[in-house]
Parts: sequence; structure tokens; C-alpha cells
Amino acid sequence: MSGKRVLLAGLFHETHSFLHQKTGLDAFAVGGLNIGQEVITKNAGNGSPTDGFLDYAGSQDWEIVPAIQMAANPSGMVTQDVIDIFYKHFFEAFDRESAHVDGIFLVLHGAMVSENCDDVEGAFLRAIHQRLDAKGINIPVAAVIDLHANVSEDMTNYSTCLYSYRMNPHSDAREAALQTGVLFGQLMDGRAVTQHHLATRYVIPPTGLATSADPMKSVQAKARAIEAADRDILCINVMGGYSYADIADCGFSINCCTSGNPDKALGYLTSLLKVFEANMANAYPTEAALHTVLDRIDTEPRGDGPVLLVEPADNIGGGTPGDGTGLLAPLLETGRKNIVAILNDAEAASMCHAISKGDTVTLLIGAKTDKHHGSPIEFSGRIRHLSDGKFELENKQSHLASMMGTHIDMGLCAVLENEQATILLTSRKTPPMDLGQLHSQGISPEDAALVVVKAAVSHKDAYDPIAAASYNVESVGLCTSNLTTLPYKILTRKQISAT
Ligand SMILES: [Zn+2]
Repeated sequence: MSGKRVLLAGLFHETHSFLHQKTGLDAFAVGGLNIGQEVITKNAGNGSPTDGFLDYAGSQDWEIVPAIQMAANPSGMVTQDVIDIFYKHFFEAFDRESAHVDGIFLVLHGAMVSENCDDVEGAFLRAIHQRLDAKGINIPVAAVIDLHANVSEDMTNYSTCLYSYRMNPHSDAREAALQTGVLFGQLMDGRAVTQHHLATRYVIPPTGLATSADPMKSVQAKARAIEAADRDILCINVMGGYSYADIADCGFSINCCTSGNPDKALGYLTSLLKVFEANMANAYPTEAALHTVLDRIDTEPRGDGPVLLVEPADNIGGGTPGDGTGLLAPLLETGRKNIVAILNDAEAASMCHAISKGDTVTLLIGAKTDKHHGSPIEFSGRIRHLSDGKFELENKQSHLASMMGTHIDMGLCAVLENEQATILLTSRKTPPMDLGQLHSQGISPEDAALVVVKAAVSHKDAYDPIAAASYNVESVGLCTSNLTTLPYKILTRKQISAT
């Protein structure tokens, strides 16, 4: 039905509470800080979830009233000034428009923690609910959220409908926002629903949450089957959770939105938890030592193509600095050749730009952000390529589009090479989720022998198709899959390892 007006806002951050560096307004200025009409002009056509919702809203002739949209790369605790500016602009628009709109649509992550709040999204949804209540306004509040959201009771209690991505890597983020829009339309037309949430005691590391493997594969399949079979169910969300947030709501959970019997919905959630528990043998993956992996590479048969050395401990998409040398340093010491790696090191990239392409330099690269990700490597090589670091995603449905849209800015970049390795130095940490990152800098990972990939799962759509083999390799870093090494204080009663 046309003629609807919708208040739109977005707040997107996955917060790693063990990182020392905080995430302030400067990070959001890079990732996205759009106010008013900019929410539309900066997102329309960029492949992001916001773009997906705008697409559907346009098809329904809904009038969009944009408030504010903020996003930043996964990183440390969010500072209060970020929350303040978001609340200021959102509630200014809310106070002006809430009596004149048919609903509120939000693009959230769901795993955001700030200096003063463990549950930023829950607190925000509660604040909206309370203000609507005070004004006597009854309109739906719907949100699309990331599969890694740490969902709280407040999030389901104070929203009308949450809808999460189904895929990890998040190839469906834009589509999920569009589908949330479809349900949101039904809510604005008066469909009455309730939401139900089942928290669990399981905290799973990112490496255990690929939807191509169990436990997520079986639970997602069962959830989709229930959605298809029961027309009362608007959606069932299988939430992997984000393990690096030391908060009470951290972990795997399941929720659903239904227009039917609440007890029946709760029964579905309980049955899905049983599916999870029956299929969780591989929920807590371990990583092999580098020498073990190299032995396997030398002895196991494989086809053509590079071998991926995946380094989850410095998983950029999980929040770590992307400058870790815990894998690259010992790999270089083995004398192996034809290695491709990416390191986030603005200082080294800048030093290369101060010299000329083709010159040879000796630089300390990597491990400059903190003490948790190795030591700098002295690297001598030729400057093969210099650029402004901008590129467009080759795969418009890349996981990266869910976070940053399809036009990516890595900041000043330099490519160093010697007889052993080709190393891309970036100035802004950029998760390795799309091959355009390397191709745009003149690097062909397809021709490498070994490619170091700082990721857990989100690289798979881009890198697995070109690889002859892939190994998760043990390294140092705060995105380790071995959660027992992290100093949790709050979620101490949850299960963080296989035993
Ligand atoms: Zn995610």
C-alpha cells in the first residue's frame, strides 16, 4: 500500500571489548556518519543493507524520513560521544516525525558495546519504546541485524520485529534488509505479532559459525523449514553471536517473530537449540601450528592454485588491527617463496609513498598497534606499486558490502616485494573479503604459492574458489579461536570451549 511514511536510521558496529584502542567519531567518519538526506544519497545503490531497504521502500512508494546512519569497522569499545551524536540526531528526527510516520526502520549490527552500555541496541530500542509509549503512539519498529549480533531480551522486548542475515559469509545482507522491509510492510498494515528470544550458554568463536558447516548449517536449515511450514511465523533468526564481547548477552541465541501462538513459537526455539546441540561437534575449531600445516602442504596431494594460510587470531573482520606478524614472521623465516600477504600499516605505506616506485627499501612492517599481535618485521624489498587504495568490490554481494558498501577506501597503499613475498601495505584496515582488494593493487593471489588471509570465515566466498587448499593456522592475536585464553570477567558461566 502506498502513502506510508517511514523514519529510517542505522547504527552499525561490532565491538571487541578486549582491544585497548577505543572506537571514536573518527572511525565513524571513515565508515559512515550520514545525517538527514545523506542517509539516502550516500547509501542508495551501494549494495549495503540500507540500500536493500531503500530499494524495497522505493518499490512500495514509501516516503523515507532519514534521521542518521553511522557505521564503523569492527574494533574496540565505542566512546560515549558516538552514542551522544547518534541519539541527538535520531531523537530530534523522532520528536519531529514520530506522530507523522507509520513505522520506524533500523539498520543495526546488534553486537555494539559502548563505554557506558553493554547493550547499545537494547538500550536504544528501549528508549524508542518508552518515548512512543509516552506519546501514546503505536507504530512498528523493525530492524535488520547481523548474524553475529549478541541479542538481548531488551532487543526483542522493545522492537516489533528483528530479522537477521541468514548467511555467513554475509552474502545476503542486502537481501536480508529487503526481506525485513517486506515484513515491515505487513506490520505497518496492522499484522499483530509477538517476539520470543531464547538465550543459550554457548559462546562460539567466529571460526565455528560458517553457515556452510555445522552447527549453523543444520540449525539454519531447520529454521527455514519451520518458516516455510508455518505461515504464522514471520521469521526465525539463528544468531551466531560475537564472542569477543565480555557482556552478559554474549553468545549463540535464537529468536522469532510470530503472529501465532507464543507457546508454539517457544517450542520451535527449543527444538532448534536441540538441533544445535546435536550438531556442535565442530563448534569450537582449533588451529594447527604453522610447521604442522607446512608439513601437510608438502605431503598432501592437491590441485592447482594457492594454499590459504588463514590467520583467525588477527581476523580484521572480527576487530583486530590487521597488522599482526604472528604468522608472517615465522613463515618468512622458513625461507618459503611466492607468498602474498596484506598488512595494515599506515606508517610503512606512507614511508613508501615518500620514496619512489621501483626503489628498494628496508622497513619495519606490522605489529605497531599493540603488544598482542607479534613484533615488527624488518623487510627489504622493491616498491612495486603505489596507490590511493580505492577499489570497487568485484563481488557486489561480498560480506564487505554488508559493512562498507561496494566502494572501498584502504587509504594510501604500497606493494612491497622481494624474492620471498609480495606484501600489500594498507593505511586503513580492510577485511580480506573480496579479491578486488589485491587485484586493484596489481597482485594476483591466484598465482601465489601461499596466501596469508587475516580472517575466520568472511573470506571464504572470495578466496576458497581460487585455492587448492586452506588451513586455519595458529597465531597470536585477540581474535583467537581459543576463547579460554581471553580474560572474560562477566560471561564466566558460559561455555567457551568444547569441554
Ligand atoms: Zn557479521
